[in-house]
Amino acid sequence: MIGHMAGVTDTLNVSTRSRDAMVDVTAEVQGVVAASRVASGQVIVYVPHTTAGVTINENADPDVVHDMLRQLEVMVPWEQGFYRHGEGNSAAHVKASMMGSSVTVLIEGGRAVLGVWQGIYFCEFDGPRRRTVHVKVVGEGG
Ligand code: ZN
Repeated sequence: MIGHMAGVTDTLNVSTRSRDAMVDVTAEVQGVVAASRVASGQVIVYVPHTTAGVTINENADPDVVHDMLRQLEVMVPWEQGFYRHGEGNSAAHVKASMMGSSVTVLIEGGRAVLGVWQGIYFCEFDGPRRRTVHVKVVGEGG
């Protein structure tokens, strides 16, 4: 075995201000990666909620986030006659599963390797709320 295996878990707190939102957490995730001193490995970003998710998409043009949230609203309306879930937030549950609850990004050179247009987004679908995002770094120290 060459090198040592490091494992670091951190938790980010995200406060959302509207029912639907995509919050760019890329800088915070890169900060956790840097603090871990892992040079080569993976970072897993995990959202422990059923009405919020996480995804990777464009962070250059904010209109992309706007258009994604509007299109999700078209595909999954907040009100539907057939919804049964008593809490009244079935749309948020559906959207959360559409986005998924985790993303994994490779780490090389001590940084999460994202494309130039890519950002990591926490996706709120039943805000405003205080949310948590777990970030786990796994790999070999530099
Ligand atoms: Zn619910």
